[in-house]
Amino acid sequence: MKLTVLGATGSIGASTLDVVARHPDRFEVVALTGHNQVELLAAQCRQFRPAYAVVGSAAAARQLSGLLKDAGLRTEVLHGADALVQVAGLPEADAVMAAIVGAAGLPPTLAAARAGKRVLLANKEALVMAGAVFMSEVRRAGAVLLPIDSEHNAVFQSMPYDYSGDMARGGVRRILLTASGGPFLDATPDALARVTPEQAVAHPNWVMGRKISVDSATMMNKGLEVIEAHWLFNAPAERIEVVIHPQSVIHSLVDYEDGSVLAQLGNPDMRTPIAHALAWPQRIDSGVAQLDLFAVGRLDFERPDLERFPCLDLAYRALRAGGNGAAVLNAANEVAVAAFLDRRLPFLGIARLIAATLDAVPQAALPDLAAVLEADRQGRTTASEILARLDCAAA
Ligand code: NAD
Ligand code: MG
Repeated sequence: MKLTVLGATGSIGASTLDVVARHPDRFEVVALTGHNQVELLAAQCRQFRPAYAVVGSAAAARQLSGLLKDAGLRTEVLHGADALVQVAGLPEADAVMAAIVGAAGLPPTLAAARAGKRVLLANKEALVMAGAVFMSEVRRAGAVLLPIDSEHNAVFQSMPYDYSGDMARGGVRRILLTASGGPFLDATPDALARVTPEQAVAHPNWVMGRKISVDSATMMNKGLEVIEAHWLFNAPAERIEVVIHPQSVIHSLVDYEDGSVLAQLGNPDMRTPIAHALAWPQRIDSGVAQLDLFAVGRLDFERPDLERFPCLDLAYRALRAGGNGAAVLNAANEVAVAAFLDRRLPFLGIARLIAATLDAVPQAALPDLAAVLEADRQGRTTASEILARLDCAAA
């Protein structure tokens, strides 16, 4: 299989290449992209010898070209957002790993769907922003959409093998998304008010990029995943439930009409869902250690606390509102997380900024990509303006 990896230099990208390297007879890399980690991307190019490599700027492209020339490689180096879209739709690739973080990943992920690829979807923000548009392109182009997010991959594995997007026909009652609860599961409101970026990015069970680590700490990650599940499985909000499960061993569950509940379990390592989607419907070695149930010992479950973690509630609210709600939520969240990491916003300010943005942006329908991008822009501008007022108030 010929593969393009968007966001190769990130956490998911590196895990993808780790699985690929275990099966040199099975996978060939056509293109790799990284935003500005040029040295790392050069090392990946030396190992996987792609035909194309994409970086964020002309300066990064010159630097990468130099490094690759010294290594005697003929990889063509491109740069910018259009180049991402171009390599996502290359005719010579069968599959695209969509692992760019945030809204920047939407245009290339959509391009891969439009080109009818096997799309391995890690970039949940793309689906949250543009769910209806994205899913209709997937259907129109006959793309095969396989979820990489561990919860959705678990749901996919636990769904009827011929699931058609009709929960009633599949006999599915509920989707149960598990959540570790993040590093502050038991923190008091006072402690939450003092959380620093360093504490927020240190997740107890998973090693991830900075943005998704903060999302896990606020539980916005689970909120985005509820919206993601809505689109992937055509499930209404009231049939998607979140269950706190601190061990992160059960990755999610499907509850059936007959009382059966099917789940997928495994060690918390993204190489499992990545290997699953790369090889589907077959199975391949991922490098992940065998699950030791005796070492795990016990599995605990609890209800999420929406008062301490209001972001989850905001995401349900945006999903129920429909239209531009989820795109505005996602945009405001990206602004808020960046401000928190910059120490311009306290941890509890993230939810407040998102709520204020949702209140300020009028509802609108999202019939096409232009409307999605406009909702994203409006969400960002409004959140930034509210943030600037907060800065003034604090000065
Ligand atoms: P990361 O920060 O480690 O990597 C992000 C990648 O995107 C990097 O390759 C970076 O160069 C690239 N990138 C960043 N900004 C860009 C821009 N403006 N234009 C082009 N490329 C850009 O993130 P990650 O943890 O690997 O997460 C990637 C995606 O996968 C996210 O959407 C995240 O929500 C999702 N995801 C991650 C995990 C995980 O365990 N890390 C699990 C589930 C879902
Ligand atoms: Mg997840």
